[in-house]
Amino acid sequence: CGIVGYIGERDTQAVLIEGLKKLEYRGYDSAGIAVFTDAGLKISKSIGRLANLESKLEGAPLVGSAGIGHTRWATHGKPSDVNSHPHTDHSQKFSVVHNGIVENYLDLKEELISQGYEFVSETDTEVISHLVAREYQGDIVKAVQKAITYMRGAFALGVLTEYEPNKLVAVRQASPLIIGIGEGENFIGSDIPAILNYTRKVYILNDGEMAVLTKDSVELMTIEGNFISREMTNVEWDA
Ligand code: GLU
Repeated sequence: CGIVGYIGERDTQAVLIEGLKKLEYRGYDSAGIAVFTDAGLKISKSIGRLANLESKLEGAPLVGSAGIGHTRWATHGKPSDVNSHPHTDHSQKFSVVHNGIVENYLDLKEELISQGYEFVSETDTEVISHLVAREYQGDIVKAVQKAITYMRGAFALGVLTEYEPNKLVAVRQASPLIIGIGEGENFIGSDIPAILNYTRKVYILNDGEMAVLTKDSVELMTIEGNFISREMTNVEWDA
């Protein structure tokens, strides 16, 4: 029930875990992160408290300059390691965190299976990673936009692909998401406290909007791809 994302020069794993801790109040049954490492896009996830994920990471830290993290409140598929987010496709080149529900996931899952896509989890979320992989033709923004035209329901998404390691894509459709703006680094979060240790400048996304982050830029657009210009919000309060 919480999303964080980071792109920049800090210890990505530490920023993600720190952000997830700030979102603990939202409740969760499992947690996970995906990070671009020198060895590619790597995922670590675990059922239970964040401490479980942290001890897993202690043995095998994920070192890299971009990542996404998630605390899950299971809606489709029991709480388990494999149902935890981030989810990926079978090429393992794409990674997705999702809050909300994809209402038509069973239809989408059936279609994807008939097209040869193999599912490993019981979640509605996994259809998103396969859809993005299916629609990918060299541009992750376009692939995400195309994928969500098939999806009904509520979703906030963070998406990474190994093919474009300098980009983090975020989508808001009826689940909360904000963008944090830093210097040489940028953030996403389900809520402002997740990023308040690092920046006080935010963009609040509205439903039907998305953001494309690099470490030096944030572009806002509608999910149809029309660019939006918006004032930054300065957060005055303390975490
Ligand atoms: N529906 C997704 C799942 O059950 C996401 C749940 C959430 O928002 O944490 O995995």
